[in-house]
Amino acid sequence: MSERINTVTIVGGGSAGWITALVLTTMLNRVDKNRIKITLIESPRIPNIGVGEGTVTGFSRLLRQLNIDEAEFMMKSDATFKCAGRFKGWHVDSNGKPTTSYNPFMEGGFVDGFQTYYYHQKFGAGGRSLIQTTQPTIELVERGLSPKLIGSKPYDALVPYTYHLNAKAFSDQLASIAKQRGVEYIQDEMLDLEQDEGGHISALKLEERGRYPVQFVVDCTGFRGRILQQALGEPFLDYSKHLLCDRAIPLPVPHRNADHIQPCTTATTLSSGWVFNVPLQSRMGTGYIYSSAHKSDDEALHELKQHLGDIVPDDASPPVIRMNIGRVRNTWVKNCVACGLSAGFVEPLEATAIYTIEQTARNLSFYFPEFGINEKAVAKFNHLMDEQYREVLDFIVMIYYTSNREEPFWKSAREDIQVPDTLLDNLELWKHYLPNANDVTGRYLFNYWDYYFILAGRNYFDREHYPGENMLRKKSWDMVLNRAEPAIADILRQLPSHTDYLKSVRKPRTGKKMLYSVNYKQ
Ligand SMILES: Cc1cc2nc3c(=O)[nH]c(=O)nc-3n(C[C@H](O)[C@H](O)[C@H](O)COP(=O)(O)OP(=O)(O)OC[C@H]3O[C@@H](n4cnc5c(N)ncnc54)[C@H](O)[C@@H]3O)c2cc1C
Repeated sequence: MSERINTVTIVGGGSAGWITALVLTTMLNRVDKNRIKITLIESPRIPNIGVGEGTVTGFSRLLRQLNIDEAEFMMKSDATFKCAGRFKGWHVDSNGKPTTSYNPFMEGGFVDGFQTYYYHQKFGAGGRSLIQTTQPTIELVERGLSPKLIGSKPYDALVPYTYHLNAKAFSDQLASIAKQRGVEYIQDEMLDLEQDEGGHISALKLEERGRYPVQFVVDCTGFRGRILQQALGEPFLDYSKHLLCDRAIPLPVPHRNADHIQPCTTATTLSSGWVFNVPLQSRMGTGYIYSSAHKSDDEALHELKQHLGDIVPDDASPPVIRMNIGRVRNTWVKNCVACGLSAGFVEPLEATAIYTIEQTARNLSFYFPEFGINEKAVAKFNHLMDEQYREVLDFIVMIYYTSNREEPFWKSAREDIQVPDTLLDNLELWKHYLPNANDVTGRYLFNYWDYYFILAGRNYFDREHYPGENMLRKKSWDMVLNRAEPAIADILRQLPSHTDYLKSVRKPRTGKKMLYSVNYKQ
């Protein structure tokens, strides 16, 4: 297809559709806002999925690049901060007691060229974990502090963070910004499509408007996968052989204590999966992610309600969402790219979907076929998406596979699944060596620090000796310990409570820029 492409038609108005619309218009129309015409078509009847409230680091970079005001975003999307993932009950200690561990957004640093975990393994830190020793994250979370100072510059913070957000409100906010910036919006349902003799999509058949010619299509139709999967027949690579959870029951509840909102997502294990806790300003997003082979929907709802206790509203009758776990083989086929749930979904654990949407849209803007579709560019794009899905899959499988819970679901998640070879090789290697940068590509979301933090939280690194330990000087480690403690205390002393920060965001602003800002001190 060699024709010049100057129109893009996005089908689907969930987060995937609107993020794609905004990324494309921001990147492609930076100089001339009419260069590429972007249209988004959304069915008036088919609702968005309405879940997806956790994000990963990098999300603030997206907001910045899209020129979205941070405070306004936080206010309109009911957003809170997230500084870590917290895992409750994924590992049981030698006394049979469930443990809690963290995966923070901060890395642990180096000393004399060695990661601090080498030193921690060899010399310890008086019973404190490496995270507690080298960064403020755990204490910040437990005490319900904000990573940012009140009055600090947008996107500026003392501790790395991302956000939790209300999916529907966020998508509405993006829609309104995108429309203001020239994205055309059509409410109509795509019933069918036409392809030319080469298999490219030449027109959509819309319920109201009838035939609608297109040059390039982005399929954001959600789990239905209406275009790339259903119409173009691109195969779906099923991940159920790797991951067992295929159902979700979202059940938002009021905060138990709205004055103590901890800036982290918590994943707590239950008998056949796990429950997420995603705090928003106005409520707590929760829900059970489980395996339908191990729990019926009724049993799962019962277990979830028992877990949440008296906080569940009496009239709660939450939906059951069927999750297609897996991804399309190629994300770009002919003149169509799939983005969001229509392209794939690995799992809600680790909140990677919005990030994948962002990367799909970014990659499309890099390889945008303005002068015609180039097969090398398509292959490159598909390779990048493939790499990203593999990275996410390995990491999430690792989290289940290394749990030592004993219920049938958890045993099955270890014994009856296919573990990707790359992960198996690393887990074998890490029985003898500590992780390093060569072991995982870590190009997107999960590098070797993430693996270290999760596995260390499960006592995976339990050998007495590791290669490299004879090159470590105790003096250097003592110096780190001596410096880190007051530095961490100093940061914690400055930080306001998360709730106070959120209140400050909700205060009406004058619209005038301040010459000076005052840092709130506790
Ligand atoms: C339980 C659960 C928890 C999750 N948690 C997270 C999380 O913490 N973090 C994260 O990043 N992601 C999470 N996700 C994923 C996240 O919800 C989605 O990736 C995100 O909402 C994007 O959805 P979407 O836009 O692809 O699809 P949808 O929101 O389903 O939107 C589909 C759109 O397509 C339109 N449409 C469909 N068919 C047609 C048609 N024929 N014609 C016209 N329009 C059509 C619909 O009207 C709708 O607008 C979670 C998902 C689940 C299931």
